[in-house]
Amino acid sequence: MEYAHLTAQTIASPNGCADIRRAHDIAHRRLLDADSGHPPLAVNARSGSCRTRVQGRRMMSLNVAVLGLGIMGAGMAHQLVSAGHRVTVWNRTAARAEPLVAAGASLADTPAQAARDADFVIAMVADNHASRDVWLGADGALAAMKRGSVAIDCSTLDPDWVAELGAAMSEADVKFVEAPVTGSKAQAESGTLRFFVGAEESALTAAQPVLDVMGTEAIRLGPVGSGAVMKLANNFLSGLQAAAFAEALALIEAHGLDATLAADILRNGSPGSPMIGLMADRMLARDYTPNFLIPLMAKDLGYAERLMEATGIRSQLAGAARARFQDAADAGLGDRDISAVVERTRVG
Ligand code: NAP
Repeated sequence: MEYAHLTAQTIASPNGCADIRRAHDIAHRRLLDADSGHPPLAVNARSGSCRTRVQGRRMMSLNVAVLGLGIMGAGMAHQLVSAGHRVTVWNRTAARAEPLVAAGASLADTPAQAARDADFVIAMVADNHASRDVWLGADGALAAMKRGSVAIDCSTLDPDWVAELGAAMSEADVKFVEAPVTGSKAQAESGTLRFFVGAEESALTAAQPVLDVMGTEAIRLGPVGSGAVMKLANNFLSGLQAAAFAEALALIEAHGLDATLAADILRNGSPGSPMIGLMADRMLARDYTPNFLIPLMAKDLGYAERLMEATGIRSQLAGAARARFQDAADAGLGDRDISAVVERTRVG
């Protein structure tokens, strides 16, 4: 077993994370020097503890179960298989697991069977209901997990359900990390996701070797539930921008302006953001190949709306954005990317 780490902790600025990228670069260069110029398998920063870790070229083989092989879960499981780990997969629709099995994963018939011998169990499923089903349902994973093993839920969930799940994990003596992700299909397929972690420090430390394979950064926001709050704030802003850009583009097109020129003005002006740039590219090209499905954005905005209400925030925007995506789903666009929401704002 080799598990070589080059830690940049001592290089990082005492001011916190501001210099973490520089520290990362220095550590990365050192590893390249020490490793005959070959790039490392993965380069990881954990800004939650202001620590940058650079992994060596070979890691110990981990025994991991992945539950949920949709757009995101499939990419994440492929990363684990490609990195040489022992991976058992389960998906409600078993046919979706075929490419993973062809790549070397084992297929389980139930979440419980997948989880039985695993040291790490990852769920990446649609919503609260799906998460409840795979962990606590009939043949759910939790009842089969070993004491002291690590459960990681990467799905976008609401904090109430995450808290309930966390309590069930504690009861079963399983370490629990909620780690919703930012990044989409491409980042899942390339191991460059970022995790918003809600967990005890010790649970995150235990989960880190697995998170390192699938992402570049695991940011600890606080105890269980904090990751979900961060993720819902993130997707509230993302969904709002996508919906608002769909309406702005419809206005531009309806008035006969050059849409490419106008979109460039918006993306390069004060309204510009990575999300506006992405939506401009996809909506102008009418490219609705799924990265992130419309019903999932409606779900996230619904969770955000509920959380704001429960917190006493009188949001007028979360509900409006949710209604925009729900309308698109109801109109039959549920199997398209969120960019297809523009098809419901375009005039004519
Ligand atoms: P997806 O492609 O629609 O996959 C959803 C997965 O959930 C599938 O494996 C599906 O199984 C499973 N599932 C749904 N209901 C279930 C149930 N009741 N029991 C068991 N399994 C169930 O979605 P995705 O894009 O991979 O997203 C997965 C999660 O990541 C969601 O929480 C999403 O909000 C979040 N997320 C997505 C993105 C993105 O860009 N796509 C980015 C960040 C976070 P079947 O195959 O049988 O339907």
